[in-house]
Amino acid sequence: MKRDYYDVLGVDRNASQEEIKKAYRRLAKKYHPDVNPDKKAAEENFKEISEAYEVLVDPDKRANYDMFGHAAVRDIFGRGGFSWRDFTHFGDIEDLFGRDFFGRDIFDMFFGPRRERYGPTRGADLISDLDVTLEDAAFGTTKEVEVPRMVTCDACNGSGARPGGVKTCPSCNGTGQIRQSRRTAFGMFTSITTCSRCHGGGEVIEAPCPTCHGAGKVHRTRKISVKIPPGVDTGSRLRIAGEGEPGIRGGPAGDLYVVVHVQEHEVFMRDGDDVICEIPISFTQAALGTEIEVPTLEDKTKMKIPAGTQTGTLFRLKGMGIPHLRGRGRGDQHVKVIVKTPTKLSKKQRELLLELEKAGEEFMGFWKR
Ligand SMILES: [Zn+2]
Ligand SMILES: [Zn+2]
Repeated sequence: MKRDYYDVLGVDRNASQEEIKKAYRRLAKKYHPDVNPDKKAAEENFKEISEAYEVLVDPDKRANYDMFGHAAVRDIFGRGGFSWRDFTHFGDIEDLFGRDFFGRDIFDMFFGPRRERYGPTRGADLISDLDVTLEDAAFGTTKEVEVPRMVTCDACNGSGARPGGVKTCPSCNGTGQIRQSRRTAFGMFTSITTCSRCHGGGEVIEAPCPTCHGAGKVHRTRKISVKIPPGVDTGSRLRIAGEGEPGIRGGPAGDLYVVVHVQEHEVFMRDGDDVICEIPISFTQAALGTEIEVPTLEDKTKMKIPAGTQTGTLFRLKGMGIPHLRGRGRGDQHVKVIVKTPTKLSKKQRELLLELEKAGEEFMGFWKR
């Protein structure tokens, strides 16, 4: 049977946030497992007040609880009920209690020892830029990427020490931790800090590896084959799992992110998954209509120009654009027709145009008014 959260914290139903914080602070001190002989019971109490605090300090969760009581708790914490992972306010615990109140071991008690920072650590992610042509971006390709990165030193297997050059850390006797006990108003506190000499590893290097000079890693450029999927655009990020920096102390490697940059194209401008190109035609072609050849991303195609086409007219070649990166289909190709006015005329052409001008006088006359 769950107790009412307000009763648990011993606060009024319309208590302010500050009053809730104050009540929690007081009870947390009271139930600190270090000052209670029955650690199990203290932990239960601590969990109970923390759950109540977690709900009441958050205005949304509190409103829910006020309306639906413990029935809302399942919605708040999920099927399994409150767990320490729900205790998002622990980020504020130093703010709530002050840095020195609990000592660090309170975290160990409820969250397990915080050794992950010093244990196996995942390698860093790497980012590499890759230039591709518009055609490669459109239809996909495989590219070799050169990745300068640190790799585990083969000579020492990453230990950084010459064979036999490692010894147990004398500062911490190989435990990786330094324990310090001190007395406070609430009893004895033991604080555990990571050994600064071995950084928690418990071992120190006496004779460094001559190949990597003790770093355990060496610089090497690696070639990695990267598959570029059809439809990528500038800024697309491709993740290649496990190709980042190697992990530390046996941790997994990071990932490599390849950031795509699509080069400018001589003919095509990209607009999302559409491409646009400009095609010049003569003014007789524009006037009479014709069929022209138009470059496409993969080849070329024929396109009809109807008689009387004006300069700047856009024609659409449906589905001739760039394939959608996600989902089926392709964008379109837009062809912008530019009617070119001739600049150099032969004698013959000039005569013909003058004749055209005369013949068209009646028709074109309105321009001259
Ligand atoms: Zn040490
Ligand atoms: Zn080495």
